[in-house]
Amino acid sequence: MRPEVLYPLFRPVTELPGIGPRNAKLFEQLAGGRVVDLCWHLPSGVIDRGYQPRVADAEPGRIATLTVNVEQHLEPRSRKQPYRVRCWDESSAIDIVFFHAKPDYVRKILPVGATRIVSGKVESYHGLPQMAHPDHVAPPEQRESVGTVEPVYPLTQGLTQKVVRKAVAAALKSAPELPEWLEPSYLRQQGWAPWRQALENAHAPGSEAEIDPQTPARQRLAYDELLANQLALALVRRSQRKTKGRRIAGDGHLREQALSALPFELTGAQARATREILADMADDARMLRLLQGDVGSGKTVVALLAMLAAVEAGGQAALMAPTEILARQHYATIQPLADAAGVEVLLLTGRDKGKARQQALSRLASGDVKLAVGTHALFQEDVAFDNLCLAVIDEQHRFGVHQRMTLQAKGRGVDVLVMTATPIPRTLMLTSYGDMEASKLDEKPAGRKPVDTRVVALDRLDQVVDGVGRSMAAGHKTFWVCPLVEESEAVEVAAAEERYTALKSRFGARVGLVHGRMRAADKDRVMAEFKDGDIDILVATTVIEVGVDVPAATIMVIEHAERFGLAQLHQLRGRIGRGDQQATCLLLYQTPLGETAAERLKVMRESEDGFRIAEQDLKLRGAGELLGTRQSGFPEFRLADLSVHDDLLATARDDVQLVLERDSELQGDRGRALRVLLYLFERDAAVKYLRSG
Ligand code: ADP
Ligand code: MG
Repeated sequence: MRPEVLYPLFRPVTELPGIGPRNAKLFEQLAGGRVVDLCWHLPSGVIDRGYQPRVADAEPGRIATLTVNVEQHLEPRSRKQPYRVRCWDESSAIDIVFFHAKPDYVRKILPVGATRIVSGKVESYHGLPQMAHPDHVAPPEQRESVGTVEPVYPLTQGLTQKVVRKAVAAALKSAPELPEWLEPSYLRQQGWAPWRQALENAHAPGSEAEIDPQTPARQRLAYDELLANQLALALVRRSQRKTKGRRIAGDGHLREQALSALPFELTGAQARATREILADMADDARMLRLLQGDVGSGKTVVALLAMLAAVEAGGQAALMAPTEILARQHYATIQPLADAAGVEVLLLTGRDKGKARQQALSRLASGDVKLAVGTHALFQEDVAFDNLCLAVIDEQHRFGVHQRMTLQAKGRGVDVLVMTATPIPRTLMLTSYGDMEASKLDEKPAGRKPVDTRVVALDRLDQVVDGVGRSMAAGHKTFWVCPLVEESEAVEVAAAEERYTALKSRFGARVGLVHGRMRAADKDRVMAEFKDGDIDILVATTVIEVGVDVPAATIMVIEHAERFGLAQLHQLRGRIGRGDQQATCLLLYQTPLGETAAERLKVMRESEDGFRIAEQDLKLRGAGELLGTRQSGFPEFRLADLSVHDDLLATARDDVQLVLERDSELQGDRGRALRVLLYLFERDAAVKYLRSG
């Protein structure tokens, strides 16, 4: 239950004065539909109205606050002309102009003979100063309140600065004082204000410099948000640890047989990761480990070895992949090796229906088969295991924490290994996995050549197509990735179809197309033909299955590479260069290229180290965009910016550890305040892991 003290913040914005049902929709788009959302809607700039020159001295183009006497109203002679109000100060005349004005209104705010403060942008019109639609018109006694620094808020179509500012002010006014959840000594040391004061300060920047995320007010708010995130993760994690795991230690005989069937040696990194995983499994605490490694770094083999260890110990293991294609690919890798060890593997995907599915389910439930590979079909309700010991989840950042936990719940104290091909910078790791243990595959299997990455302007598309044609003649296959269109899948698909048609008119039936709107079976068929058949150029939207293995593909063309996140480019590039052939990646960009975009493409050209690329990306773009928001699944922060607040994140994590050591159920003063914090940032799901009180 949300604490009562927070009620005012979680009311709908329509309960604020001045926001009606029509505006409410716009506010919802802009910030969110509740009072708290407006509180989090921080200014992005300021307008300084402290510039108060004489009219004659006012610089054109600058916002000025002037004191003038109203002389005369010049009503327009036609509808096209503006309504002018001629004013003076001791130095010069100035026209205050209104387009489409209501004369009554203008006469009311600027009565002839009166002195008025007007504030707005001064322009020069035929040599005479003028000010169109002043932001403020006020009587002289209000000079103080007009001549201040005003926050400027991000807007959305249909809302003006004035309306947003008023709404935010009303939201702030209704914000309650909250109990302090920060350690007093830390608060002092940082020089931070209490929450409500910090919130007000963040909305009242005294200058442009105070928009900076490193100002005390913004730091405090960011810290609160990170603290809520870390506390929630720690509570979930603690409860996971409380359910005891089991010791799973095999004698190694199955692993040995599988290893001897491998046509290659494990890399040092694979061997190390395997040891780490086996040690976790053998421990009686429950394993929750992340296996990170670039596409092609050989995660599947490591997973298989862990799975076989579970079988050696008399249990079952399951591997879940995010898509049908990936599940099949894992199955194809695992099956022959498991076979060499005399262990059957069952494949279960959404396509298995009716009797076949029933049969598969009963064999899992009876423990007749020990290993299963599949899609989310594996965690549907009717799937039961006899003795599931290990769940491997190939995440490719598509599953959420909840799905992870569903599979885990299919056994008792199930060990969990999460695999991801997205190199996740440490800061992001912390915010989405807490202090989850991680093994890294930071070493490529032997014999892989570095990919030759080139950055090419889109104007040279014809040459690129020629080059692809020549390579095709020499027996190479090409992935052709069409531009990411974040707003619309339909537009994205249309672009891919267009490129497909163009390439087809030149290369005929050797061109294929896959996109996100195709049926899975059709996609699979095209992919299979690309992999082993007659298709040599595969045009794809970004949905091309990131893990798909096509050894003959040595060329990757990415259109509008500047629109992609670095991590995404890195993933895509990982599709090629998997055989022993020299591979080439062409990043096509639209000119002119912005500075950051240029910098990012340069990083791609210079590095193939996924972890380095991810760190760079975080620096260059900030976490929100790091993975492409569409499929990231990472928590989004409203107030914290991980590219600048990473030190606060580390502190928050340590802070949480200390708090939970001292007050494990959050029942002391600070503890109870921290509960409020969890609700404030809507991490309240974590509260259920606490004893009530
Ligand atoms: P990931 O899942 O990390 O993308 P995979 O496990 O699919 O990578 O492995 C990619 C390819 O590399 C597979 O064809 C696999 O057989 C091969 N491979 C894995 N480990 C090694 C190794 N140590 N030496 C050579 N090839 C390997
Ligand atoms: Mg793989």
